[in-house]
Amino acid sequence: MDDEGSAHDTPHSALRTQYFRRALRLRCPVCGKGRMFDGLTMWETCPACGFPFEREPGYWTNAVTLNFMTTGGFALLLVGPLAYSGMPVLLVLALGVILAVLLPLLCFRHSKALWLAIDLRIRPPTTFERLAGFLHISGQHDS
Ligand SMILES: [Zn+2]
Repeated sequence: MDDEGSAHDTPHSALRTQYFRRALRLRCPVCGKGRMFDGLTMWETCPACGFPFEREPGYWTNAVTLNFMTTGGFALLLVGPLAYSGMPVLLVLALGVILAVLLPLLCFRHSKALWLAIDLRIRPPTTFERLAGFLHISGQHDS
C-alpha cells in the first residue's frame, strides 16, 4: 500500500498507523507532506496543509515527559551496566551526564512528532482544526 495514500482510499486503521510513520520521518502526521521542523525550530502549522501542530495551550508538556522518560531510561540502560564493570566511578558519572544532556537534545524533535501522532491516534483531527488549517493556507495566498 502507498504510504502517502489520501484519506479517501485508506482504511481508518491504516490511516492511524500512518501518523506514526510520518512522525518518525518528522513529517506532518495529518498530510505526510509538510515538514514539522525547519532545522531545530518547529513550524506553528504544517507548511503543506496548515494543520496547527500545537493543538492546545501547554500541548508539548507530554512531549517533554515522553522525551525525558525514553532518553533517561535509555541512558540508564547504557550506563547502568558500566557501573558494575569495574570502570572508574567518575568516568561512569561523566558518561551518564553526557548522555543525559545529549540524548534529550537529539530526540526532542522526534518526541514532539511522536506525541502528536499518539494524540492524533487518540483524538483524530477535528473539523475545526482542519478548517483552521485550510483558512491559514488560503489566507497565505490572499495576501
Ligand atoms: Zn500537513
